[in-house]
Amino acid sequence: MEGPSLVILREELESFCGQKVLKVAGNTKQPKETLRGCVLQRVDTWGKQLFLTFAPPRSRPPIVTKTHFLMFGSYRINDPRPARVPRLQLTFKSGIVYFYACSIQFGADVYLGELDRRVDLMSSLWDRDHVVHLMRRKGEALLCDLFLDQSLFAGSGNIVKNEVLFNIRLHPSTRLMYVSTKDWPRLAEVVHEYCWNFFAWKKKFELRKHWQVYRQWKCPLCNTKLVREKLGRFLRTTFYCPKHQALHKRIRRLRCFPVLPVAGSSLPEARLDH
Ligand SMILES: [Zn+2]
Repeated sequence: MEGPSLVILREELESFCGQKVLKVAGNTKQPKETLRGCVLQRVDTWGKQLFLTFAPPRSRPPIVTKTHFLMFGSYRINDPRPARVPRLQLTFKSGIVYFYACSIQFGADVYLGELDRRVDLMSSLWDRDHVVHLMRRKGEALLCDLFLDQSLFAGSGNIVKNEVLFNIRLHPSTRLMYVSTKDWPRLAEVVHEYCWNFFAWKKKFELRKHWQVYRQWKCPLCNTKLVREKLGRFLRTTFYCPKHQALHKRIRRLRCFPVLPVAGSSLPEARLDH
């Protein structure tokens, strides 16, 4: 799940704030029973991470859980027929929350204090100039790695990476240093803008309709078969048009094209990591 999906989850979970945890279940090895009787106080997100703050009874210090949905994690609220054993299941008076295939850590509120909100693409504190400053250390990085680097683009994932690279018509293996530094602020902005579009589309249940290259067969502009290969340090599947996103040594001027109205047919996929 990418950053925008986490914000939607946060909005859904906020309806449980102020409610007591009545029952706890799940196969997490963390001390889940400590949550029984606690009141959910607040819900925070940073990038692809979710933080739940619980107030235990008798004025004990708060418990903060940190959840990362990894590649295939998901959640359900009031799942009528849970097909799998959840990692964690929390029963409140008004509903049940299920977290699946994710990593959950129990800890203290130090988690929240350590986060750099300026790199969180979905935070109101996101700071383009700070991100550009951090990019100075990443000149050698391939753009397909840079756009997945959570220390600069917290919340960006494989959909964002592929779609943004298409919007700027750059090959995924372009090194940051080949893009003129005067274009770096725009480079940060296009990722930020795409995340907010992602958020709006997902809320309207039409995210996939806007995929231009991610899990698509053909370039929506020239009909050329898209290249699909595992690239970069993270070896994540990358989709690109060999014609519109040819590899150039120098990028003279960064251009960002608007998202096309509707993409072609989607590749069948068993799992969705957005
Ligand atoms: Zn093309």
